[in-house]
Amino acid sequence: MRFQDQAVLVTGGGSGIGQQVCFAAAREGARVAVGDLDLERAEATAATIRGTGGEAHAFRLDVTDPASVTAFVAAAETTLGRLDVLVNSAGIREIVSVLDLSLEEWQRVIGVNLTGTFLPSQAFARRLVALDRPGRIVNLASTLGISAAPNRAAYTASKHGVVGITKEMALELGDRGIRVNAVAPGVVRTPMTERYFQDPVQAQVIRDIHAVGRWAEPAEVAHAILFLAEEANGFVTGAILTVDGGWTIGKKM
Ligand code: NAP
Repeated sequence: MRFQDQAVLVTGGGSGIGQQVCFAAAREGARVAVGDLDLERAEATAATIRGTGGEAHAFRLDVTDPASVTAFVAAAETTLGRLDVLVNSAGIREIVSVLDLSLEEWQRVIGVNLTGTFLPSQAFARRLVALDRPGRIVNLASTLGISAAPNRAAYTASKHGVVGITKEMALELGDRGIRVNAVAPGVVRTPMTERYFQDPVQAQVIRDIHAVGRWAEPAEVAHAILFLAEEANGFVTGAILTVDGGWTIGKKM
């Protein structure tokens, strides 16, 4: 198994893509620390893993709060006895025109998506450096970290920032054995996006923007995340892997 006995920490592990990363890592032998703002949902993820014979522990985590982040990394290390992989999947988004976007909403989205990627990554990397251990970080960027879409100014800016921090940390930490990569998914059916699928017109628009003519399931993105996180991928760092069904390759004529 690709992650046998490895310690995998996941932010936003109570829902959507993060939850599927927890399930997939556990199936590959990982011992999982599930962090989420909603402790009940983190506990549900962990309980599902334990129910299938795996090991998982749930923690309440606010990725925007440095004290909460430090406590999460410390508790995961104590509980699991080591640190190997961090997946930053906690995220939120607004849908509002740039003219109506409030400063409060801008700061909330940048806080969770960008600062909330930086803080866990820094805390995790600091511990690895202190332990003189290698490790891997995988961030959740987005097609909106590469291009733009209307009514998502803070989200788009935050995901462009995630691309930046991914490259920056990969550059600074590569010679310490810490690899940092990101996935850039297209539209994935999760609680974050579920509303789109209730409207047949919007569901068709989503099919049409992807060259493959459909949206993604969260398990497909988790698969790509584990690909970047696995030890065998030792020469891949600073990569932004599009998992977007062809969204960003161009428009159909
Ligand atoms: P999701 O189902 O809403 O899961 C996100 C999780 O993050 C939720 O459990 C959420 O908890 C949690 N969270 C929010 N704020 C947090 C905080 N401050 N601290 C800790 N946890 C927090 O969303 P998803 O679709 O799986 O998205 C996962 C990541 O993929 C996000 O970064 C998203 O931007 C990215 N992504 C998603 C898509 C897509 O189409 N779904 C596409 C590209 C990229 P609450 O529900 O309690 O807020």
